Amino acid sequence: MQGNMMPSQLLISGLIEHAETTHPDAEIVSRRCEGDIHRYTYRDAAMRSRQLASALQGLGILEGDRIATLAWNNYRHFELYYGVSGMGAVLHTVNPRLFSDQLEFIINHAQDRWIFVDLTFVPLLESIQHKISGVEGFVIMTDPQHMPETTLENVLCYETLIANGDEGFEWPMLDENQAASLCYTSGTTGNPKGVLYSHRSTIIHAQAEIGQEALGISNTCCMLPVVPMFHVNAWGVPYSAAITGAKLVFPGPGLDGKSLWEMIEVEQPDLLLGVPTVWLMLLDHMEHIGQQLTSVENVVIGGAAAPLSMIKKFHYDHDAFVVHAWGMTEMSPVGTVNAHTPAMEKMPLEQRFALQQKQGRPIYGVEMKIVDDQNNELEKDGKVFGKLLVRGPWIVNQYYRDNDRSNFIDGWFDTGDVATIDPQNYLHIVDRSKDVIKSGGEWISSIDLENTAVGHPDLQECCVIGVAHDKWTERPLLLAVKHSDAQVTEQQVLDYLNDKVAKWWIPDAVVFVEELPHTATGKLLKTGLRYEYQNYLLD
Ligand code: ADP
Repeated sequence: MQGNMMPSQLLISGLIEHAETTHPDAEIVSRRCEGDIHRYTYRDAAMRSRQLASALQGLGILEGDRIATLAWNNYRHFELYYGVSGMGAVLHTVNPRLFSDQLEFIINHAQDRWIFVDLTFVPLLESIQHKISGVEGFVIMTDPQHMPETTLENVLCYETLIANGDEGFEWPMLDENQAASLCYTSGTTGNPKGVLYSHRSTIIHAQAEIGQEALGISNTCCMLPVVPMFHVNAWGVPYSAAITGAKLVFPGPGLDGKSLWEMIEVEQPDLLLGVPTVWLMLLDHMEHIGQQLTSVENVVIGGAAAPLSMIKKFHYDHDAFVVHAWGMTEMSPVGTVNAHTPAMEKMPLEQRFALQQKQGRPIYGVEMKIVDDQNNELEKDGKVFGKLLVRGPWIVNQYYRDNDRSNFIDGWFDTGDVATIDPQNYLHIVDRSKDVIKSGGEWISSIDLENTAVGHPDLQECCVIGVAHDKWTERPLLLAVKHSDAQVTEQQVLDYLNDKVAKWWIPDAVVFVEELPHTATGKLLKTGLRYEYQNYLLD
Protein backbone atom coordinates (compact mmCIF):
# COMPACT_ATOMS: atom_id res chain seq x y z
CA MET A 1 0.00 0.00 0.00
CA GLN A 2 1.30 3.45 -0.92
CA GLY A 3 1.32 6.43 1.43
CA ASN A 4 -1.05 9.30 0.82
CA MET A 5 1.32 12.22 0.84
CA MET A 6 1.90 14.92 -1.78
CA PRO A 7 4.38 14.21 -4.52
CA SER A 8 6.06 17.63 -4.14
CA GLN A 9 9.45 17.82 -5.81
CA LEU A 10 12.60 18.74 -3.89
CA LEU A 11 14.04 21.51 -6.06
CA ILE A 12 16.95 23.90 -5.63
CA SER A 13 14.69 26.81 -6.62
CA GLY A 14 12.54 25.88 -3.61
CA LEU A 15 15.53 26.48 -1.32
CA ILE A 16 16.11 30.04 -2.41
CA GLU A 17 12.36 30.75 -2.36
CA HIS A 18 12.30 29.47 1.21
CA ALA A 19 15.24 31.68 2.14
CA GLU A 20 13.56 34.70 0.56
CA THR A 21 10.28 34.24 2.35
CA THR A 22 11.56 32.93 5.69
CA HIS A 23 14.98 34.53 6.19
CA PRO A 24 14.79 37.57 3.87
CA ASP A 25 17.04 39.79 5.97
CA ALA A 26 19.77 37.28 6.80
CA GLU A 27 23.05 38.56 5.43
CA ILE A 28 25.52 37.40 2.83
CA VAL A 29 28.88 39.18 2.95
CA SER A 30 31.56 38.72 0.29
CA ARG A 31 35.07 39.89 -0.43
CA ARG A 32 34.92 40.82 -4.11
CA CYS A 33 37.58 40.40 -6.78
CA GLU A 34 37.11 44.14 -7.34
CA GLY A 35 38.76 44.59 -3.93
CA ASP A 36 35.93 45.76 -1.68
CA ILE A 37 33.49 44.04 0.67
CA HIS A 38 29.94 43.51 -0.57
CA ARG A 39 26.89 42.86 1.61
CA TYR A 40 23.32 42.04 0.84
CA THR A 41 20.54 39.73 2.00
CA TYR A 42 18.94 36.46 0.97
CA ARG A 43 16.06 38.57 -0.39
CA ASP A 44 18.48 40.29 -2.79
CA ALA A 45 20.14 36.98 -3.67
CA ALA A 46 16.79 35.40 -4.52
CA MET A 47 15.75 38.30 -6.73
CA ARG A 48 19.04 38.38 -8.61
CA SER A 49 18.98 34.57 -9.04
CA ARG A 50 15.62 34.93 -10.79
CA GLN A 51 17.00 37.70 -12.99
CA LEU A 52 19.95 35.48 -13.84
CA ALA A 53 17.69 32.52 -14.68
CA SER A 54 15.60 34.72 -16.93
CA ALA A 55 18.73 36.11 -18.62
CA LEU A 56 19.98 32.58 -19.23
CA GLN A 57 16.71 31.75 -20.94
CA GLY A 58 17.28 34.85 -23.05
CA LEU A 59 20.62 33.39 -24.11
CA GLY A 60 18.78 30.30 -25.32
CA ILE A 61 19.86 28.05 -22.47
CA LEU A 62 17.65 24.97 -22.18
CA GLU A 63 17.03 22.43 -19.45
CA GLY A 64 20.01 20.10 -19.09
CA ASP A 65 22.51 22.47 -20.73
CA ARG A 66 25.79 22.79 -18.85
CA ILE A 67 26.86 26.22 -17.62
CA ALA A 68 30.35 26.38 -16.14
CA THR A 69 31.77 28.64 -13.45
CA LEU A 70 35.37 29.50 -12.61
CA ALA A 71 34.87 31.55 -9.51
CA TRP A 72 35.74 32.14 -5.88
CA ASN A 73 33.31 31.95 -2.99
CA ASN A 74 31.22 35.09 -3.49
CA TYR A 75 27.64 36.29 -3.87
CA ARG A 76 27.58 36.10 -7.67
CA HIS A 77 28.72 32.50 -7.55
CA PHE A 78 25.95 31.91 -4.98
CA GLU A 79 23.42 33.36 -7.44
CA LEU A 80 24.73 31.00 -10.12
CA TYR A 81 24.23 28.05 -7.76
CA TYR A 82 20.54 28.95 -7.69
CA GLY A 83 19.88 30.64 -11.02
CA VAL A 84 21.46 27.96 -13.21
CA SER A 85 20.11 24.86 -11.41
CA GLY A 86 16.81 26.54 -10.62
CA MET A 87 16.00 27.17 -14.29
CA GLY A 88 16.78 23.53 -15.12
CA ALA A 89 20.30 23.87 -16.49
CA VAL A 90 23.31 22.15 -14.91
CA LEU A 91 25.84 24.17 -12.92
CA HIS A 92 29.33 22.87 -13.68
CA THR A 93 31.73 24.23 -11.08
CA VAL A 94 35.24 24.14 -12.53
CA ASN A 95 38.30 24.08 -10.29
CA PRO A 96 40.65 26.80 -11.61
CA ARG A 97 43.60 25.17 -9.88
CA LEU A 98 43.51 22.19 -12.24
CA PHE A 99 46.27 21.86 -14.82
CA SER A 100 45.27 23.44 -18.12
CA ASP A 101 45.00 20.08 -19.92
CA GLN A 102 42.58 18.91 -17.21
CA LEU A 103 40.60 22.16 -17.54
CA GLU A 104 40.30 21.66 -21.27
CA PHE A 105 39.33 18.05 -20.78
CA ILE A 106 36.50 18.71 -18.34
CA ILE A 107 35.08 21.75 -20.15
CA ASN A 108 34.98 19.77 -23.39
CA HIS A 109 33.78 16.58 -21.73
CA ALA A 110 30.95 18.44 -20.00
CA GLN A 111 30.13 20.25 -23.27
CA ASP A 112 29.72 23.53 -21.39
CA ARG A 113 27.79 26.13 -23.41
CA TRP A 114 28.73 29.26 -21.46
CA ILE A 115 31.36 29.95 -18.82
CA PHE A 116 30.91 32.46 -16.01
CA VAL A 117 34.29 33.64 -14.83
CA ASP A 118 35.64 35.80 -12.00
CA LEU A 119 38.11 38.57 -12.97
CA THR A 120 41.00 36.57 -11.50
CA PHE A 121 40.55 33.68 -13.92
CA VAL A 122 40.03 35.57 -17.18
CA PRO A 123 43.73 35.14 -18.22
CA LEU A 124 43.46 31.41 -17.50
CA LEU A 125 40.53 31.06 -19.90
CA GLU A 126 42.25 33.24 -22.48
CA SER A 127 45.19 30.83 -22.48
CA ILE A 128 43.02 27.78 -23.25
CA GLN A 129 40.34 29.50 -25.34
CA HIS A 130 41.46 27.90 -28.62
CA LYS A 131 41.17 24.42 -27.05
CA ILE A 132 37.56 24.86 -25.81
CA SER A 133 35.94 25.96 -29.04
CA GLY A 134 32.59 24.36 -28.16
CA VAL A 135 31.97 27.12 -25.60
CA GLU A 136 29.62 29.74 -27.06
CA GLY A 137 30.59 32.63 -24.83
CA PHE A 138 31.90 33.96 -21.54
CA VAL A 139 30.30 36.06 -18.84
CA ILE A 140 32.76 38.03 -16.73
CA MET A 141 31.47 38.25 -13.17
CA THR A 142 31.80 41.98 -12.59
CA ASP A 143 30.15 45.32 -13.35
CA PRO A 144 30.70 47.50 -16.46
CA GLN A 145 33.22 49.73 -14.63
CA HIS A 146 35.52 46.79 -13.94
CA MET A 147 35.27 44.98 -17.27
CA PRO A 148 38.83 44.06 -18.34
CA GLU A 149 40.43 44.13 -21.76
CA THR A 150 40.25 40.54 -22.95
CA THR A 151 41.00 38.34 -25.93
CA LEU A 152 38.06 36.10 -25.04
CA GLU A 153 35.47 36.07 -27.78
CA ASN A 154 31.77 36.70 -27.26
CA VAL A 155 32.05 38.26 -23.84
CA LEU A 156 29.29 39.64 -21.64
CA CYS A 157 29.34 41.53 -18.38
CA TYR A 158 27.50 39.78 -15.51
CA GLU A 159 25.79 42.86 -14.11
CA THR A 160 24.64 44.02 -17.55
CA LEU A 161 23.35 40.54 -18.35
CA ILE A 162 21.24 40.17 -15.23
CA ALA A 163 20.02 43.76 -15.29
CA ASN A 164 18.01 42.70 -18.34
CA GLY A 165 16.62 39.64 -16.55
CA ASP A 166 13.08 39.48 -15.20
CA GLU A 167 12.77 39.85 -11.39
CA GLY A 168 9.42 38.10 -11.60
CA PHE A 169 10.81 35.02 -13.39
CA GLU A 170 8.87 31.92 -12.37
CA TRP A 171 10.92 28.88 -11.54
CA PRO A 172 9.98 25.91 -13.73
CA MET A 173 8.51 22.82 -12.11
CA LEU A 174 11.20 20.18 -12.64
CA ASP A 175 11.51 16.52 -11.74
CA GLU A 176 13.59 16.29 -8.56
CA ASN A 177 15.74 13.59 -10.14
CA GLN A 178 16.86 15.94 -12.90
CA ALA A 179 20.53 16.90 -12.94
CA ALA A 180 21.30 20.11 -11.03
CA SER A 181 25.08 20.36 -10.90
CA LEU A 182 28.29 18.71 -11.99
CA CYS A 183 31.71 18.49 -10.37
CA TYR A 184 34.78 16.61 -11.55
CA THR A 185 37.18 14.81 -9.23
CA SER A 186 40.76 16.05 -9.36
CA GLY A 187 41.90 12.89 -11.12
CA THR A 188 45.29 12.26 -9.55
CA THR A 189 45.29 9.16 -11.76
CA GLY A 190 43.82 9.28 -15.26
CA ASN A 191 41.30 11.82 -16.49
CA PRO A 192 39.00 13.60 -14.04
CA LYS A 193 35.61 11.96 -13.62
CA GLY A 194 32.32 13.86 -13.51
CA VAL A 195 29.80 13.50 -10.70
CA LEU A 196 26.34 14.65 -11.72
CA TYR A 197 24.21 15.64 -8.72
CA SER A 198 20.41 15.81 -8.84
CA HIS A 199 18.11 18.35 -7.20
CA ARG A 200 16.94 15.64 -4.82
CA SER A 201 20.41 14.45 -3.81
CA THR A 202 21.53 18.03 -3.24
CA ILE A 203 18.60 18.91 -1.01
CA ILE A 204 18.54 15.84 1.17
CA HIS A 205 22.30 16.15 1.62
CA ALA A 206 21.82 19.79 2.67
CA GLN A 207 19.05 18.83 5.09
CA ALA A 208 21.15 16.06 6.59
CA GLU A 209 24.18 18.25 7.16
CA ILE A 210 22.45 20.97 9.14
CA GLY A 211 21.74 18.75 12.19
CA GLN A 212 23.66 19.11 15.46
CA GLU A 213 25.19 15.67 14.95
CA ALA A 214 26.42 16.90 11.57
CA LEU A 215 27.66 20.47 10.94
CA GLY A 216 25.20 22.13 13.34
CA ILE A 217 23.99 24.93 11.05
CA SER A 218 21.18 27.08 12.48
CA ASN A 219 19.73 30.53 11.93
CA THR A 220 21.94 31.94 14.68
CA CYS A 221 24.98 30.67 12.87
CA CYS A 222 27.44 32.88 11.03
CA MET A 223 29.65 30.79 8.81
CA LEU A 224 32.78 31.32 6.82
CA PRO A 225 33.12 28.62 4.17
CA VAL A 226 36.73 28.71 2.99
CA VAL A 227 36.20 25.36 1.29
CA PRO A 228 35.73 26.42 -2.32
CA MET A 229 32.45 26.66 -4.19
CA PHE A 230 34.49 25.59 -7.25
CA HIS A 231 35.03 22.13 -5.79
CA VAL A 232 32.80 19.73 -3.85
CA ASN A 233 30.04 22.39 -3.66
CA ALA A 234 31.74 24.09 -0.71
CA TRP A 235 30.61 20.99 1.22
CA GLY A 236 26.99 21.82 0.39
CA VAL A 237 26.82 24.86 2.68
CA PRO A 238 25.53 27.29 0.02
CA TYR A 239 22.41 25.10 0.08
CA SER A 240 22.16 24.29 3.78
CA ALA A 241 22.65 27.96 4.68
CA ALA A 242 19.56 28.83 2.64
CA ILE A 243 17.49 26.28 4.57
CA THR A 244 18.43 27.78 7.91
CA GLY A 245 19.03 31.44 7.07
CA ALA A 246 22.56 31.29 8.47
CA LYS A 247 24.67 34.36 7.75
CA LEU A 248 27.23 33.58 5.06
CA VAL A 249 30.65 35.18 4.90
CA PHE A 250 32.40 34.51 1.60
CA PRO A 251 36.16 35.09 1.58
CA GLY A 252 36.46 35.55 -2.21
CA PRO A 253 40.09 35.47 -3.34
CA GLY A 254 41.46 36.32 0.13
CA LEU A 255 42.51 32.92 1.43
CA ASP A 256 45.76 33.86 3.19
CA GLY A 257 45.81 34.12 6.97
CA LYS A 258 45.77 37.93 7.04
CA SER A 259 42.79 38.29 4.68
CA LEU A 260 40.81 35.61 6.49
CA TRP A 261 41.46 37.30 9.82
CA GLU A 262 40.25 40.64 8.39
CA MET A 263 36.90 38.99 7.54
CA ILE A 264 36.72 37.12 10.85
CA GLU A 265 37.50 40.17 12.95
CA VAL A 266 34.69 42.20 11.37
CA GLU A 267 32.01 39.59 10.66
CA GLN A 268 32.55 37.45 13.80
CA PRO A 269 31.73 34.00 12.34
CA ASP A 270 31.25 31.16 14.81
CA LEU A 271 31.62 28.35 12.25
CA LEU A 272 34.60 28.01 9.90
CA LEU A 273 34.91 25.34 7.21
CA GLY A 274 37.99 24.36 5.24
CA VAL A 275 40.90 22.01 4.55
CA PRO A 276 43.89 21.78 6.94
CA THR A 277 46.29 23.78 4.72
CA VAL A 278 44.11 26.87 5.00
CA TRP A 279 44.03 26.63 8.80
CA LEU A 280 47.81 26.28 8.93
CA MET A 281 48.05 29.73 7.33
CA LEU A 282 45.40 31.25 9.59
CA LEU A 283 46.88 29.76 12.79
CA ASP A 284 50.36 30.98 11.80
CA HIS A 285 49.01 34.46 11.20
CA MET A 286 47.16 34.53 14.53
CA GLU A 287 50.30 33.46 16.34
CA HIS A 288 52.26 36.13 14.51
CA ILE A 289 49.89 38.93 15.51
CA GLY A 290 49.18 37.49 18.98
CA GLN A 291 45.38 37.59 18.66
CA GLN A 292 42.62 35.10 19.45
CA LEU A 293 39.74 33.90 17.26
CA THR A 294 37.21 34.84 19.92
CA SER A 295 34.01 34.49 17.87
CA VAL A 296 34.86 31.04 16.53
CA GLU A 297 33.20 28.07 18.23
CA ASN A 298 33.57 25.29 15.68
CA VAL A 299 36.03 24.66 12.88
CA VAL A 300 35.00 21.98 10.42
CA ILE A 301 38.10 20.34 8.95
CA GLY A 302 37.92 17.89 6.08
CA GLY A 303 39.38 17.09 2.68
CA ALA A 304 42.49 15.75 4.41
CA ALA A 305 43.10 14.48 7.92
CA ALA A 306 43.17 17.05 10.73
CA PRO A 307 46.51 16.74 12.55
CA LEU A 308 46.45 16.36 16.34
CA SER A 309 48.59 19.49 16.71
CA MET A 310 45.93 21.51 14.85
CA ILE A 311 43.08 20.12 16.94
CA LYS A 312 45.00 21.10 20.09
CA LYS A 313 46.01 24.52 18.80
CA PHE A 314 42.43 25.46 18.03
CA HIS A 315 41.44 24.28 21.51
CA TYR A 316 44.22 25.80 23.60
CA ASP A 317 44.92 29.00 21.66
CA HIS A 318 41.43 29.85 20.41
CA ASP A 319 38.97 27.88 22.55
CA ALA A 320 37.51 26.43 19.32
CA PHE A 321 36.31 22.88 18.75
CA VAL A 322 37.52 20.99 15.68
CA VAL A 323 34.73 19.10 13.93
CA HIS A 324 36.60 16.58 11.83
CA ALA A 325 34.69 15.46 8.74
CA TRP A 326 35.27 13.17 5.81
CA GLY A 327 33.75 12.97 2.38
CA MET A 328 34.47 13.17 -1.31
CA THR A 329 33.21 14.65 -4.57
CA GLU A 330 31.39 11.39 -5.21
CA MET A 331 29.42 11.86 -1.95
CA SER A 332 28.08 15.41 -2.49
CA PRO A 333 30.49 15.46 -0.45
CA VAL A 334 29.77 14.83 3.27
CA GLY A 335 29.99 11.25 4.56
CA THR A 336 31.00 11.32 8.21
CA VAL A 337 31.24 14.05 10.84
CA ASN A 338 32.91 13.98 14.24
CA ALA A 339 30.50 16.31 16.02
CA HIS A 340 30.56 17.18 19.70
CA THR A 341 28.77 14.54 21.83
CA PRO A 342 27.71 14.30 25.48
CA ALA A 343 30.24 11.47 25.87
CA MET A 344 33.04 13.86 24.90
CA GLU A 345 32.12 16.19 27.76
CA LYS A 346 33.04 13.51 30.26
CA MET A 347 36.29 12.48 28.58
CA PRO A 348 39.73 13.54 29.74
CA LEU A 349 40.97 16.06 27.16
CA GLU A 350 43.74 13.84 25.77
CA GLN A 351 41.20 11.08 25.13
CA ARG A 352 38.88 13.54 23.42
CA PHE A 353 41.70 14.81 21.21
CA ALA A 354 42.48 11.23 20.22
CA LEU A 355 38.84 10.65 19.29
CA GLN A 356 38.73 13.91 17.31
CA GLN A 357 41.45 12.56 15.06
CA LYS A 358 38.94 10.06 13.75
CA GLN A 359 36.79 11.27 10.87
CA GLY A 360 33.53 10.75 12.77
CA ARG A 361 30.31 8.86 12.25
CA PRO A 362 28.12 8.66 9.16
CA ILE A 363 25.38 11.27 8.94
CA TYR A 364 21.97 9.69 8.48
CA GLY A 365 21.62 8.56 4.89
CA VAL A 366 25.16 7.26 4.54
CA GLU A 367 25.95 3.59 5.13
CA MET A 368 29.52 2.37 5.24
CA LYS A 369 31.47 -0.86 5.59
CA ILE A 370 35.03 -2.08 5.22
CA VAL A 371 35.92 -5.10 3.10
CA ASP A 372 38.97 -7.19 2.21
CA ASP A 373 40.37 -7.64 -1.30
CA GLN A 374 37.70 -10.27 -2.05
CA ASN A 375 35.00 -7.83 -0.88
CA ASN A 376 34.18 -9.81 2.27
CA GLU A 377 32.97 -7.52 5.04
CA LEU A 378 35.45 -6.98 7.89
CA GLU A 379 34.83 -6.49 11.56
CA LYS A 380 34.09 -3.02 12.94
CA ASP A 381 36.47 -3.32 15.87
CA GLY A 382 38.47 -0.14 15.30
CA LYS A 383 41.60 -2.17 14.51
CA VAL A 384 41.06 -4.22 11.36
CA PHE A 385 41.31 -2.09 8.27
CA GLY A 386 40.09 -2.57 4.74
CA LYS A 387 38.66 -0.90 1.64
CA LEU A 388 35.96 1.56 2.58
CA LEU A 389 32.67 1.15 0.70
CA VAL A 390 29.68 3.49 1.02
CA ARG A 391 26.14 3.79 -0.25
CA GLY A 392 23.30 6.26 0.11
CA PRO A 393 20.99 8.65 -1.72
CA TRP A 394 23.63 11.37 -2.30
CA ILE A 395 26.39 9.01 -3.42
CA VAL A 396 27.35 8.63 -7.08
CA ASN A 397 25.87 5.68 -8.96
CA GLN A 398 27.89 6.13 -12.13
CA TYR A 399 30.28 8.72 -13.50
CA TYR A 400 29.09 11.22 -16.09
CA ARG A 401 29.62 9.97 -19.66
CA ASP A 402 32.09 7.36 -18.41
CA ASN A 403 31.69 3.60 -18.55
CA ASP A 404 34.28 2.75 -15.93
CA ARG A 405 32.45 0.61 -13.34
CA SER A 406 35.52 -0.45 -11.37
CA ASN A 407 34.53 1.54 -8.26
CA PHE A 408 30.97 0.22 -8.17
CA ILE A 409 30.56 -3.07 -6.33
CA ASP A 410 27.09 -4.64 -5.80
CA GLY A 411 25.33 -1.35 -5.12
CA TRP A 412 28.23 0.07 -3.09
CA PHE A 413 30.81 2.68 -4.08
CA ASP A 414 34.46 1.92 -3.41
CA THR A 415 35.90 5.15 -2.02
CA GLY A 416 39.55 4.28 -2.70
CA ASP A 417 40.22 4.88 1.00
CA VAL A 418 41.50 2.36 3.51
CA ALA A 419 39.86 2.66 6.92
CA THR A 420 38.92 1.18 10.27
CA ILE A 421 35.45 1.49 11.81
CA ASP A 422 35.05 1.12 15.56
CA PRO A 423 32.12 -0.37 17.52
CA GLN A 424 30.61 3.15 17.98
CA ASN A 425 30.72 3.49 14.17
CA TYR A 426 33.55 6.04 14.18
CA LEU A 427 35.50 5.99 10.95
CA HIS A 428 39.26 6.34 10.87
CA ILE A 429 40.83 6.90 7.46
CA VAL A 430 44.11 5.00 7.47
CA ASP A 431 45.14 6.11 4.00
CA ARG A 432 44.19 6.33 0.39
CA SER A 433 44.69 2.81 -0.96
CA LYS A 434 47.38 4.01 -3.36
CA ASP A 435 49.31 5.82 -0.59
CA VAL A 436 49.35 3.14 2.11
CA ILE A 437 52.88 1.78 2.62
CA LYS A 438 53.20 -1.99 2.37
CA SER A 439 56.25 -2.91 4.40
CA GLY A 440 57.04 -6.63 4.63
CA GLY A 441 53.37 -7.57 4.36
CA GLU A 442 52.28 -5.06 7.04
CA TRP A 443 50.58 -1.76 6.29
CA ILE A 444 51.78 1.62 7.48
CA SER A 445 49.51 4.67 7.39
CA SER A 446 51.25 7.56 5.66
CA ILE A 447 48.58 9.94 7.02
CA ASP A 448 49.17 8.97 10.65
CA LEU A 449 52.92 9.33 10.24
CA GLU A 450 52.58 12.74 8.57
CA ASN A 451 50.24 14.04 11.20
CA THR A 452 52.43 12.84 14.04
CA ALA A 453 55.61 14.25 12.50
CA VAL A 454 54.04 17.66 11.82
CA GLY A 455 53.50 17.95 15.58
CA HIS A 456 57.28 18.67 15.80
CA PRO A 457 57.47 22.39 16.53
CA ASP A 458 60.15 22.98 13.86
CA LEU A 459 58.24 21.36 11.02
CA GLN A 460 55.69 23.15 8.90
CA GLU A 461 54.49 20.37 6.62
CA CYS A 462 55.25 16.66 6.25
CA CYS A 463 54.71 14.08 3.56
CA VAL A 464 55.35 10.35 3.88
CA ILE A 465 55.71 8.09 0.84
CA GLY A 466 56.53 4.42 0.40
CA VAL A 467 59.79 3.88 -1.51
CA ALA A 468 61.48 0.70 -2.73
CA HIS A 469 63.47 -1.28 -0.17
CA ASP A 470 65.63 -4.39 -0.72
CA LYS A 471 64.40 -6.32 2.29
CA TRP A 472 60.92 -4.98 3.10
CA THR A 473 59.77 -4.20 -0.49
CA GLU A 474 58.64 -0.74 0.65
CA ARG A 475 59.62 1.52 3.54
CA PRO A 476 58.41 4.98 4.61
CA LEU A 477 60.40 8.07 3.64
CA LEU A 478 59.56 11.36 5.35
CA LEU A 479 59.81 14.57 3.33
CA ALA A 480 59.56 17.63 5.55
CA VAL A 481 59.39 21.39 5.15
CA LYS A 482 60.96 23.24 8.11
CA HIS A 483 59.68 26.50 9.54
CA SER A 484 61.69 29.35 8.03
CA ASP A 485 64.31 29.78 10.78
CA ALA A 486 64.30 26.22 12.19
CA GLN A 487 67.55 24.24 12.60
CA VAL A 488 66.15 20.75 13.26
CA THR A 489 68.15 17.66 12.12
CA GLU A 490 67.06 14.32 10.69
CA GLN A 491 67.98 12.53 13.91
CA GLN A 492 65.95 14.95 16.04
CA VAL A 493 62.86 14.30 13.91
CA LEU A 494 63.33 10.54 14.19
CA ASP A 495 63.84 10.83 17.96
CA TYR A 496 60.64 12.86 18.19
CA LEU A 497 58.70 10.05 16.50
CA ASN A 498 60.31 7.36 18.62
CA ASP A 499 57.76 7.16 21.42
CA LYS A 500 54.78 8.23 19.30
CA VAL A 501 54.49 5.51 16.66
CA ALA A 502 55.29 1.78 16.45
CA LYS A 503 59.03 1.14 16.04
CA TRP A 504 58.62 -0.45 12.62
CA TRP A 505 56.73 2.60 11.39
CA ILE A 506 59.68 4.96 11.97
CA PRO A 507 60.70 6.29 8.52
CA ASP A 508 64.03 5.02 7.18
CA ALA A 509 65.12 8.55 6.33
CA VAL A 510 64.06 12.20 6.53
CA VAL A 511 64.62 14.52 3.58
CA PHE A 512 64.21 18.26 4.14
CA VAL A 513 62.66 20.02 1.14
CA GLU A 514 61.83 23.66 0.39
CA GLU A 515 58.22 22.93 -0.48
CA LEU A 516 55.83 20.06 -1.20
CA PRO A 517 53.59 19.73 -4.26
CA HIS A 518 49.81 19.89 -3.82
CA THR A 519 46.81 18.85 -5.88
CA ALA A 520 44.25 21.33 -7.13
CA THR A 521 42.33 20.79 -3.90
CA GLY A 522 45.30 21.50 -1.63
CA LYS A 523 46.19 17.89 -0.84
CA LEU A 524 49.69 16.49 -0.99
CA LEU A 525 50.45 15.29 -4.50
CA LYS A 526 52.49 12.15 -3.97
CA THR A 527 52.69 10.67 -7.48
CA GLY A 528 55.65 12.78 -8.63
CA LEU A 529 57.44 12.42 -5.28
CA ARG A 530 57.13 8.63 -5.38
CA TYR A 531 58.74 8.67 -8.80
CA GLU A 532 61.49 11.12 -7.81
CA TYR A 533 62.45 9.28 -4.64
CA GLN A 534 61.73 5.69 -5.71
CA ASN A 535 65.39 4.60 -5.42
CA TYR A 536 66.31 6.74 -2.43
CA LEU A 537 66.79 3.79 -0.06
CA LEU A 538 68.42 1.48 -2.61
CA ASP A 539 72.21 1.23 -2.88
P1 ADP B 1 39.87 14.88 -5.09
O1 ADP B 1 40.67 15.86 -4.26
O2 ADP B 1 40.62 13.65 -5.48
O3 ADP B 1 39.00 15.47 -6.12
P2 ADP B 1 37.95 14.88 -3.09
O4 ADP B 1 38.19 16.31 -2.90
O5 ADP B 1 36.62 14.36 -3.40
O6 ADP B 1 38.85 14.29 -4.15
O7 ADP B 1 38.62 14.15 -1.86
C1 ADP B 1 38.20 12.91 -1.38
C2 ADP B 1 39.29 12.23 -0.62
O8 ADP B 1 39.93 13.11 0.30
C3 ADP B 1 38.80 11.10 0.25
O9 ADP B 1 38.59 9.94 -0.51
C4 ADP B 1 39.91 10.97 1.26
O10 ADP B 1 40.99 10.21 0.76
C5 ADP B 1 40.38 12.38 1.43
N1 ADP B 1 39.77 12.95 2.64
C6 ADP B 1 38.69 13.74 2.73
N2 ADP B 1 38.47 14.09 4.00
C7 ADP B 1 39.42 13.50 4.75
C8 ADP B 1 39.72 13.46 6.16
N3 ADP B 1 39.02 14.13 7.05
N4 ADP B 1 40.78 12.71 6.54
C9 ADP B 1 41.53 12.03 5.65
N5 ADP B 1 41.30 12.03 4.33
C10 ADP B 1 40.26 12.75 3.89
